[in-house]
Amino acid sequence: MCGIVGFTGNHQAAPILLDGLSKLEYRGYDSAGLAVRDGEHLAQVVKAKGRLSNLSEKTDSGKALKGNCGIGHTRWATHGEPSQINAHPHVSGNCERSGSGTVESEVVGVHNGIIENYISLKKKLESKGFEFISETDTEVIAHLFEYYYKGDIMDTMIKVINRVEGSYALGVLCVDYPDQFIAVRKASPMIVGLGDEENFIASDVTAILKHTRDIYYLEDNEIVVLKKDSVKVYNTDKEEVKKEKFTVDWDVSAAEKGGYEHFMMKEIHEQPKAVSDTLNSVVKDGAIDLSEVGLSEEEIKEISQIYIVACGSAYHVGMAAQYVIEDLTRIPVRVELASEFRYRNPILDPEGLVVIVSQSGETADSLAALREAKQRGIRTLGIVNVVGSSIAREADNVFYTLAGPEISVATTKAYSTQLIASYALAVQFGKVREQITEEKYQELIAELKTLPDKITKIIEDDKERIQWFAAKQANARDAFFIGRGIDYAISMEGSLKMKEISYIHSEAYAAGELKHGTISLIEDGILVVGVATQAALFEKTISNMVEVKSRGAYL
Ligand code: GLU
Repeated sequence: MCGIVGFTGNHQAAPILLDGLSKLEYRGYDSAGLAVRDGEHLAQVVKAKGRLSNLSEKTDSGKALKGNCGIGHTRWATHGEPSQINAHPHVSGNCERSGSGTVESEVVGVHNGIIENYISLKKKLESKGFEFISETDTEVIAHLFEYYYKGDIMDTMIKVINRVEGSYALGVLCVDYPDQFIAVRKASPMIVGLGDEENFIASDVTAILKHTRDIYYLEDNEIVVLKKDSVKVYNTDKEEVKKEKFTVDWDVSAAEKGGYEHFMMKEIHEQPKAVSDTLNSVVKDGAIDLSEVGLSEEEIKEISQIYIVACGSAYHVGMAAQYVIEDLTRIPVRVELASEFRYRNPILDPEGLVVIVSQSGETADSLAALREAKQRGIRTLGIVNVVGSSIAREADNVFYTLAGPEISVATTKAYSTQLIASYALAVQFGKVREQITEEKYQELIAELKTLPDKITKIIEDDKERIQWFAAKQANARDAFFIGRGIDYAISMEGSLKMKEISYIHSEAYAAGELKHGTISLIEDGILVVGVATQAALFEKTISNMVEVKSRGAYL
């Protein structure tokens, strides 16, 4: 999910890799590392937690690592806290691998993405004597590569990708192949940069724009072998694939945003992947598995009350979750703003569960609320995006959303993944507490799985309609969002987004409440967005919509 750069050519690789990684810094990362080869010598690996400048210092701006071929990585942790050991590249074998200094290894790999079946692979490799030192999913790749390696790098890569499930962009250096490396991707971006007597891979074109604008886009599971004077792309049958060369005409700033005008736009389009990654992290063999979250069935059965505590959009996730959790589990849910909760001396049931929702895991009020709950001896669960963040470390249990780095301040994909996390909890709690039948459980999981495609469809199909509508209403001064039940919760988020992004004043109302509130403000031409997605409440919401329309609202 974060950054990869690879280089082979006539220049020293390390400074080029560091420079390339610096172009990916804007994406956010928590640690970084390099592996460089000097001819026949084994690859040297250096990693550092924190800023790229730490890695740069450690390697004397790259000068300390000699060699013309190498790979570099900036990590956004998904499995295992940000640390030097968990930083990439990961190495195989029994060399000194603490990551404390420069290490050498026969197989060295960097990875973006998530290996979903890493636990079973790890168990298998451990039983064969492989020793793991990191908490990452990625480390299985290096060991698996060594396990399968019999002298042919292509055969090995094919075997590796046949075994791993999930998303990956991989770059691997292998002992018998000096001056070259092998790379592959699936559901995680990677391009090949074509230079003069030098070639590159990168997870994002910005990293190599300084050196070349000629690139190949790799399709899923296309494997590329790079030498300084040749780039060969193969399919998984080892047949060479003829690639079409593209010339990038974006400037650097457009390239950073993947061609979108704003990061927020880019992140809106990343929602299907973020949602499916988050879902796939807990849905295994047709069931929801919360073992990584660390909640046992007994513990779930004992929960007397749930308190969801959060700020801003995460609070709106809590509002939606309340409807779903109460409906499916019959556990009473209370949703609270963290800034209120922390100062109001709340009465908490000792058998309750406090759920803190925060993208960054550092939201000050939410963190304070978590500490308040812990002090009172209540079990806490964080729904958090940033691995190793304060809330993730301090909460008793963590459900990681796998949205990847979110750069836009107005949340989009993190919000969506928080909803998914809440739904997964609701469905599993409902099942464990025998409030829903096995049939209903399967039905709900199947429905959840359809969401990434549905999101894609909405974003793609409605692009023109949304733009047409936005252009028409761009001068609106006031807007209302109305809905009932979960649609009300969604309206609250829609209304907040409207304010945050367009500076148009906006309010969300429970549709049935408007008549008891400010319906008098609804006058000619006022924009009202009615949200009506639930069959059971459809008629009711429609009648509220008719009410506002009869007062002249633009509905
Ligand atoms: N899942 C891997 C890890 O946590 C890769 C993260 C990334 O894409 O940066 O180490």
